[in-house]
Amino acid sequence: MVVIDSIKNGIVIDHITAGLGMKLLEYLDIDTSSDTVAVIMNAVSNKYGRKDVVKIENVTDIDLAALGLIDPKATVNYIVDHVISQKINLTVPERVVNIIKCKNPRCVTSVETNAPQLFSLIDKENREYRCEYCDEIISMKGGYNNEFIHRQWFDR
Ligand SMILES: [Zn+2]
Repeated sequence: MVVIDSIKNGIVIDHITAGLGMKLLEYLDIDTSSDTVAVIMNAVSNKYGRKDVVKIENVTDIDLAALGLIDPKATVNYIVDHVISQKINLTVPERVVNIIKCKNPRCVTSVETNAPQLFSLIDKENREYRCEYCDEIISMKGGYNNEFIHRQWFDR
């Protein structure tokens, strides 16, 4: 049961895989110095055992593709006047642009830092993506300790 009464307007990202809440937050470009953010870690969930929940006040513009890439079973609730106005079940994105970085040192994107990072989904079950330049395969399934997920690597 998610308590949403602490948020008037904003988003609640629910059913996040336990341990990924901070990673998601870091990844969403949320300014934690000015936005009101709550991260609940290891909440008990009927559905998945343990989960993280992230609540962000007054922010509604988030990158759903990035969220789906990192944790496709999370759900996003948009809150308006303390009420859930919209609920979105994330999906594994088919194509990701400038979210993950190719780790092949010989890839053109490693040499030309202005080249966009383009990946296509090739295996939904294993969440494997192929670099569109060099065919390097990156799996998003696993420990999420992969060093190639760093938004600050991209100029935005
Ligand atoms: Zn590549």
